Amino acid sequence: MLNDAWRSQHAGGSDDSTTGVDAALLHFAAAADQPVLVVSRPQAPAPLEIARVRWANTAAADLFGVASDHLVDRAVTRLLRRREESPEGEHLSRDRRIRCTVDALTSGGESRHVEVVAWPVPEREGREWFWVLAVVLPEDERAQAALRAAEERFATLAQSSPVPTIVSDVGARLSRVNDAFAELIGLPAEELCGTAWLTHVVDDERSGVVEAVARVLAGERVTLDTRLRNAAGQVRWVAVRLAPSRTPGYGAGFIGTVEDVTDRLAREHRLAYQAQHDLLTGLPNRLALLERLTDLLTPQAGAPQAGSGVGVLMVDLDDFKTVNDGLGPEAGDAVLVEIARRLARTVRGGDMVARPGGDEFVLVCADLTDLDAVQATARRVLDAVLAPVEVNGLRLRLVASIGVVLLEGLTCSAEEVVRDAGIAVHEAKAAGGGRWTLLDDEVRQRARRALRLVADLREALSRGTVDVHYQPIVRPGSPAELLSLEALCRWTHPELGPIRPDVFVELAERANLVPLLDAHVLALACRDLASWRAAHVAGDLPHTPAYVAVNVSAVSLAAEGFSAGVRQTIAAAGLHLRDICLEVTETSLASDLRACRTVLEELRRDGARVAIDDFGTGYSSLAYLKDLPVDHLKVDRSFVRDLHSVGEGVAGGPARAVAAAVVSLARTLGLGIVAEGVETLEQDAVIRDLGCEAVQGFLYSRPLTREALVEVLRAGGLLHPHPLAPTPAHVPAPREVTA
Ligand code: C2E
Ligand code: CA
Ligand code: CA
Repeated sequence: MLNDAWRSQHAGGSDDSTTGVDAALLHFAAAADQPVLVVSRPQAPAPLEIARVRWANTAAADLFGVASDHLVDRAVTRLLRRREESPEGEHLSRDRRIRCTVDALTSGGESRHVEVVAWPVPEREGREWFWVLAVVLPEDERAQAALRAAEERFATLAQSSPVPTIVSDVGARLSRVNDAFAELIGLPAEELCGTAWLTHVVDDERSGVVEAVARVLAGERVTLDTRLRNAAGQVRWVAVRLAPSRTPGYGAGFIGTVEDVTDRLAREHRLAYQAQHDLLTGLPNRLALLERLTDLLTPQAGAPQAGSGVGVLMVDLDDFKTVNDGLGPEAGDAVLVEIARRLARTVRGGDMVARPGGDEFVLVCADLTDLDAVQATARRVLDAVLAPVEVNGLRLRLVASIGVVLLEGLTCSAEEVVRDAGIAVHEAKAAGGGRWTLLDDEVRQRARRALRLVADLREALSRGTVDVHYQPIVRPGSPAELLSLEALCRWTHPELGPIRPDVFVELAERANLVPLLDAHVLALACRDLASWRAAHVAGDLPHTPAYVAVNVSAVSLAAEGFSAGVRQTIAAAGLHLRDICLEVTETSLASDLRACRTVLEELRRDGARVAIDDFGTGYSSLAYLKDLPVDHLKVDRSFVRDLHSVGEGVAGGPARAVAAAVVSLARTLGLGIVAEGVETLEQDAVIRDLGCEAVQGFLYSRPLTREALVEVLRAGGLLHPHPLAPTPAHVPAPREVTA
């Protein structure tokens, strides 16, 4: 007898005399939704139909329309009828299973075409034999075939897929792997199947993978990046996608694709690194800097104020361009790398040193809570830069200027912080360089005014409302004779009135407007000179200047197309290159020697004159003068101012000694000399005494309007000295507007 416990658990299965049939088998059969009968036969061998039912499950009862208890003892002939076409005499055998097609006869008198699989089961003691008859309904077959086909298609697909694919059972053992996975791990597929694939995950990733597997077994789809170690010991980054699956014959598990992303990640990491770093120095770049500043400027919950105690120091090398131009870009790069290394050592861990570009570095430092801390940090940076740098065997001494902005309480953007730091750097440079400036309200105010002036100047230039005045350059005497003119720009601001040229020229240089300004002045000067020439030829003007001099900033000179522009302007006015003189400063020549030199040589070859302006205030490297394409020197008025007639030679004061030296040097080099800023008869006398044949100064004439100048030319170009009192209080200078 089947035991009572079993029977009560499996209500629906018939109870009868299947004594000795394996309880586990009946357990399985009772739960199956497929009709199952257990039969025995009277004597062996006998055809299937002769057998009698000893047990039936609920599904069988349903099929035949009879309660399972009532099926017991029924002859199989009453339930199944062999079909005509099926081969005769399938006997229940003790050593093999049989399969045959029959009609199942239901209680309603219908018959259903089914297949029966019968296999022998010996009774425990082996005295008797039973057969288990599993009835396969046609729908089940189709469903199973479809399932098998789908599974095979999937297997084929996975097998040929280039994406490593695995099928794993609950125990995380590999039940199937495709060739791509075998290749990834570097072991044959047969060797991998049955092994725990977690052993291929690197140790410190394992717990993450175990957690992911737990989630997928709970029915989730999971993706994760992790690292595997292949058979050769190499670690590969993989992107794993896991989906739960039930594999017939293997139970619950999952299917996974394991994509090798090592190369892609390496590329992505490299790109991400490049996007955030300056490749020369390896420091964070502008983007990284802006990101850090944006973070710092964003108010954090719980923090008193954004950017509290954080200081931004922009460090700009004062004469880096000279290094780059003079020693070449490789030397420049070496200097930058060295400075980057030093700066990185001046800050504390957690602080940032970035290189947003060029010769600019930005430090973002915490704990700059008071001016002493700012001062100490700035000092450290200045000292770090100051230590000599060895390049190409040369020991260079560099100087830096620093602009400081404190972030505390700021509500502006990261870009604005960087711009403000730049303004502060500019202030430090304007104050002589080699120092630091904190951007306070005053500096900010001044910067704002300058920005407005720049905008207004741009507008004035585009409308052509910037004008020129002309200052005569004369052969000194009483009266003096007008030789040539210097064109000097003039701008009257609609609200602020006249702006001093040195102020707005400097602004124009910073805003890159100076090429426009210089070109505009040259055009006006050429137009005016051409008209005076014409009037002279027509006999309306008895005198005309030999040439007109224009000031050319280094930026203009170095700008693309400068020389072509000059030629074009001159030709348009019907003039020649010999009708103009280009005044360039020593400083501009020194800063971009090679580029400027080529341009000047070329224009000078075709007749243009070249003068060195403000001579004596710049580098004064007399040694290189002889190689420069230059016609004359304009001695700066700071030397002229201090000239006194008392005593000869050195006794006349150091200024006189310098002036004398310059004049004799110029003479040796075959250069002409113009003395600038001659205001008094005394200065004039000394100058003439030294043998200087050209003078430009208020003594003879201030810069004149076009109309006033025409009057001078009409009067034959003769100018009488009008000595000024030496105190500048008498000079009605244009209203001062500082930027
Ligand atoms: P600079 O080239 O040295 O021009 C001579 C300056 O000295 C002029 O000042 C002139 O008015 C002044 N000056 C002449 N004689 C005397 C004198 O006896 N005493 C005194 N105290 N000053 C005298 P200004 O017109 O104010 O120009 C200042 C500077 O602005 C110029 O110095 C030049 O560097 C620059 N500048 C003027 N026009 C232009 C221009 O069109 N382009 C460029 N790039 N710079 C210009
Ligand atoms: Ca000048
Ligand atoms: Ca000058």
